[in-house]
Amino acid sequence: MTETFTVETEGTVSVTDVTDPVKKQIPLEVEAGLCTIHVPHTTAGVTVNEAESRLMTDIETAVSALFADERDYCHDEIDDNAVAHLQSMLLGSNVTVPITAGDLALGTWQSILLFDGDGPRTRTVSVTVVDRT
Ligand code: ZN
Repeated sequence: MTETFTVETEGTVSVTDVTDPVKKQIPLEVEAGLCTIHVPHTTAGVTVNEAESRLMTDIETAVSALFADERDYCHDEIDDNAVAHLQSMLLGSNVTVPITAGDLALGTWQSILLFDGDGPRTRTVSVTVVDRT
């Protein structure tokens, strides 16, 4: 089964913890399986890391610094967001996390983080659960 929810991002570049809304998409009867979190966008991405506010700011800063904004990217002639596409490509559009004991098998400090490189926008997060109970 696949369910979706939306996130209203703030600022041009942002990192949002979406762990709780992802968990809400896991049916109660699913004890074991796989959960794929997919972001159907070309200027956003998803990753697993710590949802500590200063680290989330560091992720925004570090990913932004990877691609020099002043470069003359060809795609900028169309909609001036080539950097966000490159950032999205680097992070990837999906992650898969095992489900054990009815919950995401995340480590103590792991969370599902949505990255937006071209906000503010309404972003869709797709959650597909494969039940192997
Ligand atoms: Zn574009």
